[in-house]
Amino acid sequence: ETVVVLLNRDLRVHDHPALSAACADARRVAPLFVVDPALAVGHRTGFLAESLADLRESLRGRGGELAIRWGDPVAETMRVAREVSAQAVYVSEDVSALARRRQRLLAEGCEHDRMDFRTFPGVTVVPPGALRPSGGGDHYRIFTPYWRVWSEHPRRAVLDAPATVRFPEELDAGSLPVSRRAPHGLFRGGETVARERMDKWLKYCVEDYAQGHDDLAGNRTSKLGPYLRFGCLSPLEVESLSVNGGDFVRQLCWRDFFHQVTLAFPRINRDDYRPRGQQWLDDRDAAQAWKEGRTGVPIVDAGMRQLLAEGWMHNRARMLTASFLVRRLGVDWRVGAEHFYRLLLDGDVADNYGNWQWVAGTGNDTRPNRIVNPVRQARRFDPEGEYIRRYLPELDAVPMKMIYEPWRMPKGVRGYPAPLVSMD
Ligand code: FAD
Repeated sequence: ETVVVLLNRDLRVHDHPALSAACADARRVAPLFVVDPALAVGHRTGFLAESLADLRESLRGRGGELAIRWGDPVAETMRVAREVSAQAVYVSEDVSALARRRQRLLAEGCEHDRMDFRTFPGVTVVPPGALRPSGGGDHYRIFTPYWRVWSEHPRRAVLDAPATVRFPEELDAGSLPVSRRAPHGLFRGGETVARERMDKWLKYCVEDYAQGHDDLAGNRTSKLGPYLRFGCLSPLEVESLSVNGGDFVRQLCWRDFFHQVTLAFPRINRDDYRPRGQQWLDDRDAAQAWKEGRTGVPIVDAGMRQLLAEGWMHNRARMLTASFLVRRLGVDWRVGAEHFYRLLLDGDVADNYGNWQWVAGTGNDTRPNRIVNPVRQARRFDPEGEYIRRYLPELDAVPMKMIYEPWRMPKGVRGYPAPLVSMD
């Protein structure tokens, strides 16, 4: 028997239910990744290439191989499945509209060719759709009740990596994408680096999370986002090892929360529940200044420059830059969400668009309470002005008491713009 495991956002060997099931069910297993040129992963290409190279190495270490193909994932998977006379195709179930379309087409293709098609958990801690509100409805719209039932929901067992993977010898391995190093060297892709980072985080840092996660200048969050995004880590395994991480585990729940919203609301990246008739401003200059980190509001600009420089932004900065674009500049949340999605290494449909809708108050949970005052936020979460100074060297000469509001300097600051909107 031969099973093809089509990989996507599950680039790992540990706690991989689809891969483990294939190894248990079949004599030969062909793990496959299809690079889809139609999907512009932009900044994420280098990270993806490194993750695939790492996965290939660990499969080889188990006697196996990672097959790589280029083209349409469904057509290529069916081609490989026929080539090795597979009995089945397995995938880790995912929720975006694109992933679901792919799953549907694979199911049809397999039925046509008389193969089995099976989906497995692994992308989230609790499978999206597993929890239904007792009062009716297909998903949870508000986080807190979801968190309550999520915390108590029984977990499946965390799986070891398969000891051996027997790859069909007639199948050509195919070539890896070239690893273009991202301009920012902060994150190296792959399960090996991910596990080292996870171990260190859980051993030395997670206990400080409740206290430190909002400190903009400190490096006090896990930075596991990109690894969870590509499935270099199993979120369930991370959770199971987070023994002292209550507040940290809550963040993993937010991730699951937005995945179950996306399952129920696949147009999360396009449609919103804005009151009819409410218009956004089509202010392209303002949107452009925001993207470049030139709004004239230091804490906003620091966040936007961090994104440009590192492909990552602190969560508190994501919230306040998003809120500034939508609430102060009146620009459509989708303009900002697209920009984030393109540049973030952890950019992911469910989490990115879900959070944007949450900040804009246009999603399921429309309470209009997320208007934040950037100056107050800056004083509170960057009390030394260290984060601002790190990303805005042009403010070097600005004294501490003016750092949050340089527009109060008698002559302004040369080389730094006045605020786009009144900050009074
Ligand atoms: P930690 O604070 O260490 O948290 C651990 C993990 O929990 C994260 O890696 C992430 O997987 C998950 N998590 C934490 N906060 C959230 C949250 N609010 N929603 C969903 N999951 C969360 N996160 C993404 O993974 N991808 C995105 O594209 C994304 N876009 C965002 C856009 C906006 C406007 C906002 C406000 C938040 C966004 N987030 C996104 C959530 C959050 O900012 C990041 O997950 C976090 O900053 C990543 O850093 P970390 O790994 O150090 O997180």
